Amino acid sequence: MDETDGSGVSRPEASHVVDLHSVRVAYGEEPALRGIDLQITAGEQIAVMGPSGCGKSTLLHVLAGVLEADDGTLCVLGEDLGALREKDRAQLRLARMGMVFQFGDLIGELTLRENLALPLQLLGGKPARIGPEVESMLDRLDLGDVADRRAAQVSGGQAQRAAVGRALIHQPALLLADEPTGALDTVAADTVMEALMDTVTEQGTTLVVVTHDNRVAAHLDRLVSMRDGELVG
Ligand code: ADP
Ligand code: MG
Repeated sequence: MDETDGSGVSRPEASHVVDLHSVRVAYGEEPALRGIDLQITAGEQIAVMGPSGCGKSTLLHVLAGVLEADDGTLCVLGEDLGALREKDRAQLRLARMGMVFQFGDLIGELTLRENLALPLQLLGGKPARIGPEVESMLDRLDLGDVADRRAAQVSGGQAQRAAVGRALIHQPALLLADEPTGALDTVAADTVMEALMDTVTEQGTTLVVVTHDNRVAAHLDRLVSMRDGELVG
């Protein structure tokens, strides 16, 4: 619940990692989000489900600050995204968010080990500290044996586990995942979701997973359904 100060202006609760009110986004004339209200508390793990084209990816892009809302207010990780400059949104994303996409988006020319090290290097970590953190994440995701293979040369499941590792290596407060198992068979998808949930639970990460797969949603605490640019039920 929002608190209201004397002026009637509502303020987000500090415990809300995500606090959206009446968020609207259109691509040209075509509305994609038609007034989204969504509150997510720290450590919550939610699935956003709905048919193709209902606006799930658009919602994630807005949460990540890569797409600006046309209307409404959005507070993410305590920051009013609408008021931040592009550069500060990028910094917030780099330092405090992780993202996983359907096709991993690893750098194919780099090994899995190098892909995992990348966020820590971008954040200015010392090599002596980066090494052990990467090894420990590779172990936890059961990728030790293939760590020296280039990303383009591993299986889909291994690549997605590495993408999970890369997204979580800097212990972000918020992880956004868009159909993280959408390109995998059922067995590989289960392995990726288990690795993701284990790591997120251990780190206390707030998690938003967009999916149209009931098997994926079953891993999460709370389900939010989306239809035609709106949250329903
Ligand atoms: P979902 O991820 O649920 O499949 P999206 O958020 O990708 O849905 O898309 C929501 C709606 O916005 C769809 O009708 C889609 O065609 C449209 N859309 C998405 N991205 C763009 C874009 N870059 N330009 C124009 N329309 C878009
Ligand atoms: Mg999508």
